[in-house]
Amino acid sequence: MVKLAEWRGKEVFRKYGVPLPRGQVARSADEAESLARSGAVPLPCVIKAQVLAGGRGKGGAVQFANNPEEVRAAAGSILGLEFKGEKVREILLEEKLPIARELYLSITLDRSKRRPIVIASAQGGVEIESVDDAQIDRQSIHPFPGLTVYEQRRAAEVLGLSGSLAKSLGSVLSALWNAFVGEDAELVEVNPLAVVVDGLVALDAKVIIEDDAAFRHPDYSEVRDDRTPLEEIAREKDIAFVQLDGNIGVIANGAGLTMATLDVLQELGGKPGIFLDLGGTDDPKKVTEAFLLMAQARPAAVFLNIFGGVTRCDTVAKGLVEAMKQVPESERFPIVARIRGNNEAEGTEILRAAGITSVPQLRDSAQAAVTLARGNA
Ligand code: ADP
Ligand code: MG
Repeated sequence: MVKLAEWRGKEVFRKYGVPLPRGQVARSADEAESLARSGAVPLPCVIKAQVLAGGRGKGGAVQFANNPEEVRAAAGSILGLEFKGEKVREILLEEKLPIARELYLSITLDRSKRRPIVIASAQGGVEIESVDDAQIDRQSIHPFPGLTVYEQRRAAEVLGLSGSLAKSLGSVLSALWNAFVGEDAELVEVNPLAVVVDGLVALDAKVIIEDDAAFRHPDYSEVRDDRTPLEEIAREKDIAFVQLDGNIGVIANGAGLTMATLDVLQELGGKPGIFLDLGGTDDPKKVTEAFLLMAQARPAAVFLNIFGGVTRCDTVAKGLVEAMKQVPESERFPIVARIRGNNEAEGTEILRAAGITSVPQLRDSAQAAVTLARGNA
C-alpha cells in the first residue's frame, strides 16, 4: 500500500480542487517558528505530526498555537514524539479555522460489490469505526457513469447540508471522485470535513494508492517509508516478503497457503513474524535469494510449507540447501519443512541429505516450528 501522509494527501486534494486550509510543512522547530513569524502560516495555527497512524488529535500529536513562541514549543514537542511506533520527522502547520461542524466523507472500494463506495456521516472528527452504523450512509457507485448529481444530493442530505453548502459538497465530492479515479486510489478520506463560516474545508486527508497501480504513478515511489529495508530489497527482486512482529519465518507458496500457515502457527501459540510467498517460482536461484533474505531477518525458526505445483518440491529443496550453505554457521536457525505435491519424493530426499526432515502432517510440522522457535528465542 502506498499510504500518503496528511500533507501529501492534501497535495493530491489540492490538485483536484478540494478546499484546504493554508499550510506549510516543517522539519524543525526553527523552521516552524520562522514560518509563523513571516506570516507564511497564519496565526493562530495548528501543528500536526505527519505520521501514518490516525488518532493524532486525541494522542497529543495535534496542537494549537497563538504566536511564534507557542509554535516553536509545540513544534519541538511534537517533533520529539514517537507516535504509535513512528518517529515524527515532519509537521504540518496550518491556519486554525473556526469549525461549526465536523463531517466524515470518503470514497473507497467495496470489494464484495466490486464497486467504489461513497461513505458519509454527520459524525465526523472521530474514527469512523467508532461511529454507530445507523449514522453512516453508504452509496455504491457504478464506475462507468461515475458519481452522479443525485448521489451528491443524497450525501448532502445525509450530512444535513442545504443551499450553498449542499452545492459546495457536490464540488468537494466530485473533486474526491476525480482524485480517487485519477490517482488509482483505494481510499480517499476526509475526516473531518469541516463546516466553516463560508463553506467546507478538508481539515485532514488520508489517501492510499492501490499498490498494483503504483507503477502508473512514479511520483509516489519515494513515499514508500512504510516498508522495512528488507521489504524494500525484496520488492526490487520481485519477492513477496512481509515483516510482522513475531519471530517465526514462514515460507510458503501462494497467498492462500501462506495465510493458512500463519493461522495455524498462531493457533498453536506461535508468533509468525516474517513471511515469504514463493508464488509460482520455478527457479532454484530465486528460491536461494528468497531464503537469504529470510536469513537476514534473523528468525528464531523457519517453517517451510510448500505445496508443489508449478513450484516443484525439488526446486524449493535445492534452493533451500544452496542458501543454507551461504548462511554463516552463527546465523543459522532451525528449519521445519513440510513439502507435498509435485516431486515430493525428490525434494524430501534432497532435504534429508542436508539434515532437514520433512514432516507431512500440517499440525505436527507447525507444532515443531513453534516449539523450536520458543527454544531458540
Ligand atoms: P487525526 O484524525 O489524526 O486525529 P485530524 O487532522 O483529524 O487528526 O485533527 C484532529 C482534530 O483537530 C480535528 O478533528 C479538528 O477538530 C482539529 N483540527 C485539525 N486541523 C484543524 C484546523 N486547521 N483548524 C482547526 N481545527 C483543526
Ligand atoms: Mg482525522
